[in-house]
Amino acid sequence: MSRETTLGAGCTAPTYHDDLRLVQDEIDKCMKCGNCMAVCPVYSVDKDEMAVTRSKIAVAEAVMKGDLSMDDPEVSDMIFNCLVCKSCMTNCPTKVSYDKIALGFRAALVRKNGLPWLKKMIFTSLKNPKFFDVAMKAGASLQGIAFKGDRKLKAISPRSPFAMVGGSFGFDGAGRCPS
Ligand code: SF4
Ligand code: SF4
Repeated sequence: MSRETTLGAGCTAPTYHDDLRLVQDEIDKCMKCGNCMAVCPVYSVDKDEMAVTRSKIAVAEAVMKGDLSMDDPEVSDMIFNCLVCKSCMTNCPTKVSYDKIALGFRAALVRKNGLPWLKKMIFTSLKNPKFFDVAMKAGASLQGIAFKGDRKLKAISPRSPFAMVGGSFGFDGAGRCPS
């Protein structure tokens, strides 16, 4: 029997994009062996244990247990300091699908707090090709004036005086908008 038949026409089962509890199985598979350390491109640059997949999974575990708030900066780092390249999955003896954990948490954070204003505007413009072209041209010429990049943090920050209104454009307390 197909899933559609089981759930009724037009209904599909929720995924980890809809329900964070569905990533629990992936979290439970991690035995903290550290094999992922050798292949994670973020760790190879940061050289920080918190950048390794197993540490990110430990943070996810703490959130699921209720020991850490979804709004904790550690959670934001765990969610966004990842390219979702899946390299860790190729070196994982227990086949943890870390992409499901990272994307499940990103979706849960957006459900909780909404999209930052800037990203919302970008996604809206993607639906309108003409507006997108105009916005890209305007953005390219203004980028250096309004923003500065930080390669280490993989983030952009508004330059002064734009920094004063950064919060309303979706930048965090440290003035960063993670990529
Ligand atoms: S390789 Fe897999 S099981 Fe080992 S620490 Fe990394 S994610 Fe966990
Ligand atoms: S998916 Fe994320 S945690 Fe895994 S190797 Fe890529 S950057 Fe590292």
